[in-house]
Amino acid sequence: MNVFVVNCGSSSLKYQLINIDTEAVIAKGICERIGIDGRLKHKPTGKEEVSKEVAMPDHKSAVSYVLEALTDSSYGVIKDLSEIDAIGHRVVHGGEKFASSVVITDDVIKAIEECNDLAPLHNPANLIGIAACGELMPQVPMVAVFDTAFHQTMPKKAYMYGLAYEYYEEYKIRKYGFHGTSHSFVSKRLIEILGKTGQTSKVIICHLGNGASVTAVQDGRSVDTSMGFTPLDGLIMGTRTGSIDPAVVQYIADKKGYTIDEVMDVLNKKSGVDGLSGVSSDFRDLDEASMAGDEKAILALEMFAYRAAQYIGAYVASMNGVDAIAFTAGIGENDDKVRAAICQYLGYLGITLDEEANKVRGKEAKITTADSKVPVYAIPTNEELAIARETVALVK
Ligand code: ADP
Repeated sequence: MNVFVVNCGSSSLKYQLINIDTEAVIAKGICERIGIDGRLKHKPTGKEEVSKEVAMPDHKSAVSYVLEALTDSSYGVIKDLSEIDAIGHRVVHGGEKFASSVVITDDVIKAIEECNDLAPLHNPANLIGIAACGELMPQVPMVAVFDTAFHQTMPKKAYMYGLAYEYYEEYKIRKYGFHGTSHSFVSKRLIEILGKTGQTSKVIICHLGNGASVTAVQDGRSVDTSMGFTPLDGLIMGTRTGSIDPAVVQYIADKKGYTIDEVMDVLNKKSGVDGLSGVSSDFRDLDEASMAGDEKAILALEMFAYRAAQYIGAYVASMNGVDAIAFTAGIGENDDKVRAAICQYLGYLGITLDEEANKVRGKEAKITTADSKVPVYAIPTNEELAIARETVALVK
């Protein structure tokens, strides 16, 4: 059984075709610059990558080029579209309407549309991807997998803000949390490694990529997470501030003569380790700069680790304990220095890092010593595989 996994952005479309029986990726790729000009990069497993400049005025044309690439006689991977059994769509925001993945129907599309206000950059693009696939493959069942769904189990005391209640009632302003597919995937794996499946468990997952968040997972359910109403909250990220005193928004607007939109642009795109260091949002560049003695790069890295350690501490308190911690995503899987810097704050939990084991990159490994009271792991995330699994579970 083959699942076509689609992650549609405003001008891009990432895809994977996954054989769910072997969980192998058959092909993957990306369409970029949709609506501008258009480029398709298609990588069939075991064959050369194909890169093509092709006119993509809209997402439907992008999907049709992808389907052509998948069935092409030389670099294709399937004979025809009948070999695509289901389609899994990543959808960013499910609001309070979706606490799990769902088979896409007209009613589901309407309900996703109703969440557009909550994710104006992402949900409309996700819906365009759903419509394009629906038109080109009307017979194939489709599933929506939401970034927010895993966090719908948070208790009210965790997801409410200290705002007057009417803002929740009228506008649904609350913490939603994101990266749910990754936190769910990695926490399941961690609980499995601990041998605690079906038992009580308390784990903390640190998803550290360009966007970054920490989640407290108790008995397999998200009970708190660092991202909030939007993915701007919580950790200091590549280009995002993370938590900040909201009064700063007005102050910058006054001082700079910026509109609210312009200030939000600063907070989302010109801040984080990138804005702090003036070097880059990429931790490989920051690492190089810090080795060369760049003080701002050193500070940015220190702040990143400090904030992450603070959230871990907060979630140990939320759950009144922790059985294990996992690092995942681009930085969490690859950057041993960041992992070590965060673990330095965790001595009070009896955590001792195994420096040799911590050198691991992109592979699952325990990075603490045998006598560490709380084990810490690096666990690669795989959001596409998680989406494919969810899809199959619903359409089988
Ligand atoms: P996203 O999916 O949010 O774009 P990723 O999870 O792919 O992000 O993470 C991307 C980030 O991971 C890069 O910006 C970089 O900072 C970091 N990263 C990737 N590889 C390495 C590496 N080998 N060492 C350190 N950091 C890395």
